[in-house]
Parts: sequence; C-alpha cells; structure tokens
Amino acid sequence: MKRLRKKNDENPIAKCNECGSPYLAARSKMASLCPECAHILYGYENCPHEFKNGKCTLCLWDGSRSAYINQVMEQ
Ligand SMILES: [Zn+2]
Ligand SMILES: [Zn+2]
Repeated sequence: MKRLRKKNDENPIAKCNECGSPYLAARSKMASLCPECAHILYGYENCPHEFKNGKCTLCLWDGSRSAYINQVMEQ
C-alpha cells in the first residue's frame, strides 16, 4: 500500500536550537533558529507574530524563550 505523500516538504518545520520551539523553516533567515531567536541574537528581521492557540500562525513559534534569550533581553 502506498502512502499519500504530504505536502510537508514544501513547508518543512524545523526546531529552534535556542528556545526549542518548532518553527516554519521558510520563515527564518537562519537554518537552526526560529525568527524570534534569530532576531534577538543576530538582528535578523523578526516575524510579526500572530498568535492563535498558543503559537504564531505565521512562523509557528510557540513563544518559548531560552534562559539565554531572557538574559539578552534584559540587557
Ligand atoms: Zn527560538
Ligand atoms: Zn511568528
């Protein structure tokens, strides 16, 4: 039996190395960071984030922040 191929290949979901949140790879400029972490750590353009049911509908970031990110934001 053949499995139906999902369209996930076009919208691969990655996992952020920093905050651990899943995110839409196409939405981030960095290979291993969500748009939020890439923005805070490297100054890349952030996603405008539209939260619905606990995650951003645009990039899928779930609002997670690592201790390091919190530390950077406090500075
Ligand atoms: Zn992140
Ligand atoms: Zn977002």
